[in-house]
Amino acid sequence: METQNNWVARSLQHVWHPCTQMQHHETVPLIPVSHGRGIWLYDMDGKRYLDAISSWWVNLFGHANPRINAALKDQLDKLEHAMLAGFTHAPVIELSEKLSALTGHALGHSFYASDGASAVEIALKMSFHAWRNGGQTEKQEFVCIQGSYHGETVGALAVTDVSLFREAYGPMLQRAHVVASPDARLAQEGETAADVALRAAADLERVLQERQGKVAAVIIEPLVQCATGMAMHDPVYLRRLRELCDQYQVHLIADEIAVGCGRSGTFFACESAQIWPDFLCLSKGISGGYLPLSLVMTTDAVYQAFYDADVRRGFLHSHSYTGNPLACRAALATLAIFEEENVIATNRQKSQMIAQAFAGLHNDSRVKHVRQQGMIFAFDAVVDDPAKASTFSRRFFSAALQQELLMRPIGRSVYLMPPYILNEEEITLLAQKTMNVFEEVMA
Ligand SMILES: *Cc1c(COP(=O)(O)O)cnc(C)c1O
Repeated sequence: METQNNWVARSLQHVWHPCTQMQHHETVPLIPVSHGRGIWLYDMDGKRYLDAISSWWVNLFGHANPRINAALKDQLDKLEHAMLAGFTHAPVIELSEKLSALTGHALGHSFYASDGASAVEIALKMSFHAWRNGGQTEKQEFVCIQGSYHGETVGALAVTDVSLFREAYGPMLQRAHVVASPDARLAQEGETAADVALRAAADLERVLQERQGKVAAVIIEPLVQCATGMAMHDPVYLRRLRELCDQYQVHLIADEIAVGCGRSGTFFACESAQIWPDFLCLSKGISGGYLPLSLVMTTDAVYQAFYDADVRRGFLHSHSYTGNPLACRAALATLAIFEEENVIATNRQKSQMIAQAFAGLHNDSRVKHVRQQGMIFAFDAVVDDPAKASTFSRRFFSAALQQELLMRPIGRSVYLMPPYILNEEEITLLAQKTMNVFEEVMA
């Protein structure tokens, strides 16, 4: 039988891994996964790992979920794929109907792609083109928030403010305006999270005023900027953002790729502020973590801006696998679990259990900014030695694997984004293991 080490060697020879300095694998382990069940992933040697970050935030109801598996097996014998131009099929129709209903039909038109970055590209292009079709050809600029992450294709990177990802490609990018972050961690003495949010909104207003008539859209990750290190803000920011976008006639793009599908505590994060954006991007959790699927939901107004006899006024964007039936069936099975198992309410209890399991952190001097939004929990480690700080994340990852845990801190922000199916016992186990790893890495 082939050994685990042999699989690792073969992978390193021919697979170029994402978001990785490949040389680090001289010291950082690479885990060949054999199979997954529920919250656990198993390697080729049978060792297990609790998937505490839902395999990069995509998995909602566990690996090898019986309901999603059954739906996919059924779909496989009906239709694996058909092109979506000139053709349609039941899974994409039913999914679009259900999503529309979830927004009370405020966002009644869904446009499909396969990955998150493509959904962001679509929203940016649609906004730009909608204004153009309406004769407002001057509206060509975009605004994003400090620390924003919207994906790594060239258009998405232009509205991304994580220098690690953007730096090398600067000259290729049509840079967006970057406005102040509403991150609650920026609170000064005596300020509340809402104060920080309103202060940041004033900076946004300044840019919208200065660039009046030039801005097509503002793009935001509502409630939690995940990739920059789980930066959380008060929902008042979203309400103010909606007001400002209306006032200055600018589209609002909500990138809910990470925070959508119940992750933030409501199905859509925008619900927390009782607003709807002009464009809402979904991906990651929408297929339950099974298949690449992304989509952009938008309003009647935007849809009508393209509806015309002239082909060039249409939205001619496409991807080969647009609206793939298998991916849509996985999404339908995922939404059925939400409907039938009262997931949003149960998650509220689980989120409280997670808070309780980590209550000890609040008076730990090695920890700052313990924070939580729905099924996202995070804290920042205080590491003063710069050499230790720069390797914190990698050391934590390696130590976590020893404790049967899959966790990858972002910088010194340690976070959990577990699948929704974990139970009370598993929450206790997860907290214990996390604290063991933390002790070891801080020693
Ligand atoms: C992951 C992510 C993206 C990009 O999605 P990909 O599928 O990785 O291209 C965009 N925006 C946010 C907020 C994300 O978390």
